Amino acid sequence: MDSGGDPGLEAIFKRLIGATGPISVAHYMAEANAHYYGRADPLGTGGDFITAPEISQMFGEMIGLWLADQWQRAGQPGLYHYVEFGPGRGTLASDALRAAEQFGFRPQVHLIEGSSRLRHIQQTALPQATWHDGLDSVLREGPLLIVANEFLDALPVRQIVRTEQGWRERVVVHNGERFMPVAGARPMDTAVPAALADSPPGTILETCPAASGLAYEIAMRLKAQGGCALFIDYGYDTSVAGLKSGSTLQAVRAHQKVDPFAEPGLADLTALVDFAQLKQIALAGDVDCLGPVGQGDWLMALGIGARAATLARTDPAQTQALESALDRLVSPDQMGTLFKVMAYRGPGWPEGAGFGTA
Ligand code: SAH
Repeated sequence: MDSGGDPGLEAIFKRLIGATGPISVAHYMAEANAHYYGRADPLGTGGDFITAPEISQMFGEMIGLWLADQWQRAGQPGLYHYVEFGPGRGTLASDALRAAEQFGFRPQVHLIEGSSRLRHIQQTALPQATWHDGLDSVLREGPLLIVANEFLDALPVRQIVRTEQGWRERVVVHNGERFMPVAGARPMDTAVPAALADSPPGTILETCPAASGLAYEIAMRLKAQGGCALFIDYGYDTSVAGLKSGSTLQAVRAHQKVDPFAEPGLADLTALVDFAQLKQIALAGDVDCLGPVGQGDWLMALGIGARAATLARTDPAQTQALESALDRLVSPDQMGTLFKVMAYRGPGWPEGAGFGTA
């Protein structure tokens, strides 16, 4: 083994590259993340990174209230589904469903999870759930109330790089010591729209076909069976035709940023989510799109401040911890602005609280 990555995965990558040539950044990211999430539970202070639902129960509770409100205002349909993509430890779903149950919201629960290890943890938190590899096996009857928190950022990005000879796919090679990204051999000029074609050499364009494909699939399902979807992630709102200048690929291990190509399978690989593209897809799929708005504004509009005060009154010893959790979730210099919330809504479904329209 040459570097500190997952030895099994390093061998697979080396064999693949040796046999068929360099692999794309997207292929590398997809495989590295599948190994990463399959290895262990990465979440929490003892793991590699911490997510909003793991910071405080208030995060999932606000989502639960949002969903219950949507469902009530849609006329309380009898058969309906909670669907969560990449539920991690199941914390968000547990908090959301507990909070929403007070309003009579008792959906069928579907969890879409790729890691069997995490499925196992989710089973303890949510014994009533059924697990799926994708949306395809979720019932096509009854509205879907879909949640994806820090899921789209884990999907593989494709990168194209401008060289002196034109545009090339960004691919991964092994130089005898380590994996590294280089420009591939095949011309990719036709994949670049005219507005970006003249970018200076070295420019990287990034796109996430997996996220776009999934968003379109969700839009089609909402159109066919009703419901709404919440996408919460860190991202940007400024792409051109689904392409963003600059690589946003990053790796985190033990709460530190590391080189994404240094230890495949041992660090969490993510890329910023392209909310402008998600908006375009809603338009193409003929569903309404709300936001994106900052996570901080959205949570405050839903009443997370009042929720924190209530919890502090119930358990005064927790006051400081609650204040600090609230600050992490909503402050602009913490998760409040970088993290964004966007919703899709199917035909006839309500505007959705917290987006400045309801
Ligand atoms: N939503 C959770 C966990 C975020 S981590 C939270 O906020 O705490 C990303 C989650 O997505 C993990 O559960 C991971 O196993 C899952 N995941 C990542 N890529 C996936 C894929 N391609 N298919 C299915 N699940 C995936």
